[in-house]
Amino acid sequence: MNEHNKDKIVKIFENVFKAEADSVFFAPGRVNLIGEHTDYNGGHVFPCAIDLGTYCAAKASKSNEFRFYSDNFPDNGIISVKLDKLNKTGLWADYPIAVVKAFRSYGYIFPHGADMAFFGDLPDGSGLSSSAALEVLTGTVLNTLYKLSATKQELALIGQFAENRFIGVNCGIMDQFASAMGKRDNAVLLDSYTLDYSYAPIPREKASILIVNSGVKHSLASSAYNDRRRECETALAELRRHIDAPSLCALSDDEFEKNAQYITEPICRKRARHAVYENSRTITALAALKNGDLSAFGRLMNESHRSLSEDYEVSCKELDLLVKTAQGIDGVLGARMTGGGFGGCTVNLVENGSVEAFERTIHDIYSKETGIVPKIYKISAEDGAKELR
Ligand code: ADP
Ligand code: MG
Repeated sequence: MNEHNKDKIVKIFENVFKAEADSVFFAPGRVNLIGEHTDYNGGHVFPCAIDLGTYCAAKASKSNEFRFYSDNFPDNGIISVKLDKLNKTGLWADYPIAVVKAFRSYGYIFPHGADMAFFGDLPDGSGLSSSAALEVLTGTVLNTLYKLSATKQELALIGQFAENRFIGVNCGIMDQFASAMGKRDNAVLLDSYTLDYSYAPIPREKASILIVNSGVKHSLASSAYNDRRRECETALAELRRHIDAPSLCALSDDEFEKNAQYITEPICRKRARHAVYENSRTITALAALKNGDLSAFGRLMNESHRSLSEDYEVSCKELDLLVKTAQGIDGVLGARMTGGGFGGCTVNLVENGSVEAFERTIHDIYSKETGIVPKIYKISAEDGAKELR
């Protein structure tokens, strides 16, 4: 959140809708610190909400019309939809429209529409979840304007429902949960199955979180994702002939080792090994943060990357280069790929005194070796979606 963008969205609203906004809101993007490819294996994820995200200035309307404007898509102008005719537009506004529909599916009733102007500073295509920010933001605005009394957790679920059902993206709950439930200077460990969660501190006076965008996205990503899911399902089915396990991540490391021989394909065994150990790492990582041991947390991030690269095989040479370079810099506590893989971003935990050296070294080496200038973002862990005063 920053004051400049808050003022900016208020002015945009006035220019576009020729009226004063009732209120201003912000919803953050997120980065996952550890716990990758665990959500669909019944395990934990460990993201934090970040200070980049999406702003909205809004005003309740007396008509039955919603009017949406985004400064990120100025060419689309104002997009209007009637409450009794919430059809898809094929434009970005399908996200807020989906949220209105999802609210209804949850039994909430809107008396009127609203005017809403948006602006987001999440870098495009960086995988920091601008769609979840937009969904949770829309939910937070409507919840406040119309005093709908949805809880934050419900706003996350409504956002996910909107994306699953009306946008048609089969995402898990992590992104919306982090955007709704984030906490300043904290990461949140989330059990993606039960939705139990726990906060743990990442004090900004000690270390910084840096995200590096590799600038590549290999086309393998979606087919490989489906392959990994299938390989994990096969491993689980084979294990279940011998032991009682609702999911791979329900197994401890020991239970896995004792039974791994029942998984016939070596490749499925490797995938399952990643899921089991990665989930264990998230639990150990929670304890590390709670003890203030950022170095231990960083080592778990390093180990997570090794596992993603070698056992799960969802990294690529660009991500491996970024991680290896980062891990060689003094003061870097941990580095790993984040997100689905085959490109996208790395996340790095860096002692404050080493941030400049990190930025310089990553920029120089990555540009030289790949010809791509990496985009580097120093972010901080922030509160989830809220009204700005
Ligand atoms: P991400 O990884 O950032 O979530 P997605 O493809 O899931 O990427 O979502 C990006 C889409 O969300 C954009 O193409 C746009 O339709 C919508 N969106 C995100 N932020 C904004 C914004 N500030 N204004 C309008 N639409 C947005
Ligand atoms: Mg998205």
